[in-house]
Amino acid sequence: MFQKVLIANRGEIACRVIATCRRLGIATVAVCSEADAHARHVDLADEAWTIGPPPARESYLAIDKLLRVARDAGADAVHPAYGFLAENAGFAEACEAAGITFIGPPAAAIRAMGSKAAAKTLMERAGVALVPGYHGAAQDFATLAEAAGRIGFPVLLKAWAGGGGKGMRAVEHPADLAAAVEGARRESLAAFGDDRLLLEKYLARPRHIEIQVFADTHGNVVSLFERDCSIQRRHQKILEEAPAPGIDAERRRAMGEVAITAARAVGYVGAGTVEFIAEGDAFYFMEMNTRLQVEHPVTEMVTGQDLVEWQLRVAAGEQLPLRQADLTLAGHAIEARIYAEDPTRDFLPSIGRIVHLRQPEQDQHVRVDTGVRQGDRITPHYDPMIAKLIVHGADRATAVRRLGAALAAYEVVGVQTNLDLLRAIAAHPAYARAELDTGFIARHAATLGSPPLSRAEAQAVWAAAAHAVLAGQAAEAGRAQASGDPWSPWSLADAWRLNGEGYQDLRFRRDAAEVTLRAHPRAAGALRLDLPSGPIEAEASENDDGLALRVDGVTHRVRVVRDGAALTVILAGRNHVLHHLDPLAPPRAAGGDGGRVTAPIPARVARLLVRPGERVTRGTPLLVLEAMKMELTITAPSDGTIAALPHAVGDMVEEATELVSFRPD
Ligand code: ADP
Ligand code: ADP
Ligand code: MG
Repeated sequence: MFQKVLIANRGEIACRVIATCRRLGIATVAVCSEADAHARHVDLADEAWTIGPPPARESYLAIDKLLRVARDAGADAVHPAYGFLAENAGFAEACEAAGITFIGPPAAAIRAMGSKAAAKTLMERAGVALVPGYHGAAQDFATLAEAAGRIGFPVLLKAWAGGGGKGMRAVEHPADLAAAVEGARRESLAAFGDDRLLLEKYLARPRHIEIQVFADTHGNVVSLFERDCSIQRRHQKILEEAPAPGIDAERRRAMGEVAITAARAVGYVGAGTVEFIAEGDAFYFMEMNTRLQVEHPVTEMVTGQDLVEWQLRVAAGEQLPLRQADLTLAGHAIEARIYAEDPTRDFLPSIGRIVHLRQPEQDQHVRVDTGVRQGDRITPHYDPMIAKLIVHGADRATAVRRLGAALAAYEVVGVQTNLDLLRAIAAHPAYARAELDTGFIARHAATLGSPPLSRAEAQAVWAAAAHAVLAGQAAEAGRAQASGDPWSPWSLADAWRLNGEGYQDLRFRRDAAEVTLRAHPRAAGALRLDLPSGPIEAEASENDDGLALRVDGVTHRVRVVRDGAALTVILAGRNHVLHHLDPLAPPRAAGGDGGRVTAPIPARVARLLVRPGERVTRGTPLLVLEAMKMELTITAPSDGTIAALPHAVGDMVEEATELVSFRPD
């Protein structure tokens, strides 16, 4: 076994690999970029080396730097985890050439499966079923159009070198094919340096079912059964589970055998995932991911195995820990990917500092894999995943209930998240009935919003906000008096000590509306609050779990997180953001933003679509930004004229940077 392993990654998965190494008594070397100097994975490892500036190209993707650290630190193996260099055959070879074990499959297997098209050709020869499609070498538009016509619309364009949904476009009508091909080629070229495309029949309501395989260097290959990853947003997984509902033992065995055939066909070693797209009883090979998968924990929960331990043992030359006949399934597991994404901005990454973070308690049923802590920043440089929440139950219904409860206990303030969407899915009757396919979210969009607050909940939110403002004033008053500054305005703002005689008007902004509430403080912690819907009596007591807030005889558990003027009231797992309009705070500059065209997030300018002097109408695409995993088209806010374009293609722009100098009519 290895003495010391370097983990060429960051975030939750680096932490995950370190945990197993530690359990096995293997020393760990973390690497980090300058942006991650204080990250969780850095603190967990035995030693950590800073290898470069934040952009991945200069740090986590810099093969020479990683190998130098591995040598200098005396690591005898490198674990690539997922993403970054995990599926880079050149990196696997460079490790071996440097005498360091690459914990993953042989470079030849990575290469064989690295191209979706080549993998399909190989699988076709091995007798594995494929979705009707075209993955030939001829790439001229006429050939693609002819193939699309033969396959029949709708078709799906995919990048040969694809991954993470990049370069993928569904095309409904022949007339849209040319533009889609152009967009997919551009995205693919930017992401992978390769603009070759393949075509598949676009299935209407498929399921994504994948098989976890494992192979050792002694010729053993096993299946650790399937995962259903059909709950996706824009072809990106957000909830995964094992086993797949409705798959019986016979079908499980059949899919496992096909996956093992696929692994054997490329001389596979280590952990791999064979992805299938399934419709009805049919299932087709989609691609093979030659690495540990993001969603591997659900397999661990139902098989009771540690897949990272298996990877280490196989890489060290040992036999697989178990044979097929010894592998069994127990219960049901579900994973939810919690991302810093803004649902109000079409789930764009939400950049910022995590001001407050509380995770559900972990036990044998609930596991949280995370690389971030309270106070950390979500930066534009890396994947905006905050955590993976994994739950287990004796059966699916129990697992779904535990998922709902654990999601309700998750608290994140400071960045926007997809938590409300995850909660809505977990609570959805169609999800409970396991009606899973990749169209789930789009189909149920209308019923996946957050339910409206009950009257009692709405009252509790206001009462919590009022309590927080008054408690804050009382604390300030205490501090001002202790500091002996009798002139501090705070020493006058202690309405609570008026003991029911006085009142104070509290102004809040919530969404676009301003609301003034009259608060009548009573004994410490209690108040009467005049709400538009009528007066309420509230009493709060603080404990470790937040605030126990009693409103008209009903006790709610809430938490209030203050960040400047912003108050986030967390009630029943949902964030309610209000701004306290403090009359004593200095006035803010009025922010007339009329007609400004700014970057919604930090990004790179990918394409300019207009020229200075050009007249445009409202909604005209002006330029394309590229950030994280997506392209983002910026359109004209109104009719007007382009005065100037201050940025060139390739420029990095910060959030709120003016992208186009625009003169509205
Ligand atoms: P998986 O197939 O393992 O479930 P995904 O499909 O979500 O994972 O992502 C595919 C791959 O792309 C993964 O290896 C993931 O780590 C990687 N990835 C996701 N987001 C990014 C990013 N912003 N930058 C680089 N790699 C990413
Ligand atoms: P990636 O490399 O981004 O993981 P995949 O080829 O694995 O790309 O496809 C990602 C997702 O896109 C699948 O999980 C599925 O939801 C959807 N998808 C892929 N192929 C098809 C298809 N032929 N028809 C319908 N949906 C598809
Ligand atoms: Mg895939």
